[in-house]
Order: sequence, then C-alpha cells, then structure tokens
Amino acid sequence: MPEKPKAAFYWCASCGGCEESVVDLAENILGVLDAVDIIFWPVAMDFKKKDVEAMADKSILVSMINGAIRTSEQEEMARLLRRKSKLIVAYGSCAHMGGIPGLANQFDKEEILRYVYEESPSTANAQKIRPESETRVDGNVLTLPKFYNVVRSLDQVVDVDYYLPGCPPTPRLLKQALDVLLSGKLPEKGTVLAPDVALCEECPRKDTKPNDLSFVEFKRPHNTVIDPNKCLLAQGVICIGPATRGGCEALCIKANMPCTGCFGPTSRIKDQGAKILSAIASQIEGKDEKSIDKTLDTIPDPVGTFYRYSLPVSLLRKKIS
Ligand code: SF4
Ligand code: SF4
Repeated sequence: MPEKPKAAFYWCASCGGCEESVVDLAENILGVLDAVDIIFWPVAMDFKKKDVEAMADKSILVSMINGAIRTSEQEEMARLLRRKSKLIVAYGSCAHMGGIPGLANQFDKEEILRYVYEESPSTANAQKIRPESETRVDGNVLTLPKFYNVVRSLDQVVDVDYYLPGCPPTPRLLKQALDVLLSGKLPEKGTVLAPDVALCEECPRKDTKPNDLSFVEFKRPHNTVIDPNKCLLAQGVICIGPATRGGCEALCIKANMPCTGCFGPTSRIKDQGAKILSAIASQIEGKDEKSIDKTLDTIPDPVGTFYRYSLPVSLLRKKIS
C-alpha cells in the first residue's frame, strides 16, 4: 500500500481552542485519518520532538501550527516544523495575526513579568522570584524557554504557505482546507483559505445596515438589549464585520453577538483596526472635540476593540515604552 502523506499539528502561544476545533471535525476526522498519517500532535498523541528531528527534511506534507510566537521554544518548534514540512499553515487568528496573545504587545516584558509575579492581587511572592531561563540547582542547570519582549505572528518567524483564519477556524473551513491541500491543486502561496469578501456581504442582517450612521454613544453587548434582526452597528454596538473577511458563516452574528474580527481583513485592507476605526470615527455625530471625546469615551478598551486579533501585524505592532 502506498504511504499516506504525513501531517503534523502544533500549538505555540495558544489557548487550546484551535486544537479543540480539530476534534470538532466530528466524524469527518475519520476521513482525515484515512487520508493522512498524523506524525506529531502533542495535545493528542505521544510523539516527541526527537521523532520529528529524526525525520527527513520536507517529509511532512503539511504542518498546521496554531498560536502566536512568544517564547524561544515556540520559535524553535516553528523552525523545526518548517524545515521538515513542504507546507506550513498558520492555523487560527493567533498564528495568522498574533491574535489575543498579541494584545500583550501593549506592554513590554518587564511590565508583564512585574505584574504577573509581583503586583497582581492573587500573587504571593514576597521574595519577588521570577522564572529564569537558566537556574543552577546542586550543580545542575535547569532551563526554561526565553520569554521574548514581543509577540509575533507565525509568518514574522518562519515562511508560511497558507493561512486558515478564525478563532478558531470552523470545522467546515478546516475540512475544505484539508481537501484542497490533499488534492495537490494548491492555491497561490500566501492565500488565506477563506472567501475574500467582507463579512457584511454574507451577514443575515446586511439588508438592515444603513449607508450612513450617526453615533452618539457605543453600547456594549452585555449592557444593552440587542434586536436580533437588525445590523449591530445600526444599534450602536461596535461590529468589525465591515473590515473582516467572511467565511465564518456569521456564527457570532447568528448568536446575537457582534463580529470581533477574528478572520482578519480582506486582501484589500492593510490594517484591519485602522480601517474599522476610521469607518466608525467618521460617523460620530458630534463635531466639536468635547462631544467627540464623550462618544469615544464609551469605548473602554479601544485597542482590544479594534485590534483584538491583529495588533502584532498592524502598522502599530507594539508599544515602545
Ligand atoms: S485563534 Fe482563538 S481559539 Fe485559536 S489559539 Fe488563538 S485564541 Fe485560541
Ligand atoms: S456591521 Fe455587523 S451586523 Fe451589520 S451587516 Fe455587517 S456584519 Fe452584519
């Protein structure tokens, strides 16, 4: 019998949701197991790094890597899988754009370590001990991965062939991606494996989206009653749909929640956060500074609202302190 193509899954700075989404393939996972040999998947199978190191270069057809790159271990594994794989897929928003972990780029390494190991209300650490990348104990050296000063998307570290967007990608998109990659009819390198249209185009509420909006205040989903049949922006709830790629089946909108932008921008948008920010800011009703500020003050977390998944790949990328 001919050998099946080999596939690997790996996680970097990730919440585990992308791993869970592979299991969400449900019975379709049997088809995947028929089509490929999974040779590395630390969350589910007991293969070791040395097993991958022993493989010939480019012997894995595809490695799906989720999570951003925050530590030296994640960088090392991404480079190893790049060397061993014909194709690398950045799987999910964190690998694609830095994702939620990328919001940490608002702070430098020192601020993060100080808060987590000294200042947070739940920390008891009178001696202010911090994890070190090298510690000597009884003549032995214990090592931990280095914690970098910046969170990076996967393609800021290794060459990426394709992007599977979403937080996490939907089972339908994953199945389509695997079918395409296994068919051998590969799309152009760098393709984001989801439709290149804005979410508003496929939103069930698109007919209720007005051409012109006039914002006096922005409402948050948890403290307003949202009409389930009306465009969320028209109700004053910030929805990133106009600046976000479709393909997610509008799952959040169907659950009466606004789009938060996890599929990233379409190919025509350079900076997702700047795009939606400028679209919204230009439609604030007030014209003088005081009334504009009053409206903007109703957005308590602008970076987390407009750059929830894309800060590391944005024009801003990181705050320099
Ligand atoms: S993309 Fe979303 S689900 Fe996947 S690891 Fe990042 S935060 Fe978790
Ligand atoms: S702004 Fe949001 S709710 Fe309105 S049409 Fe676009 S995706 Fe749908």
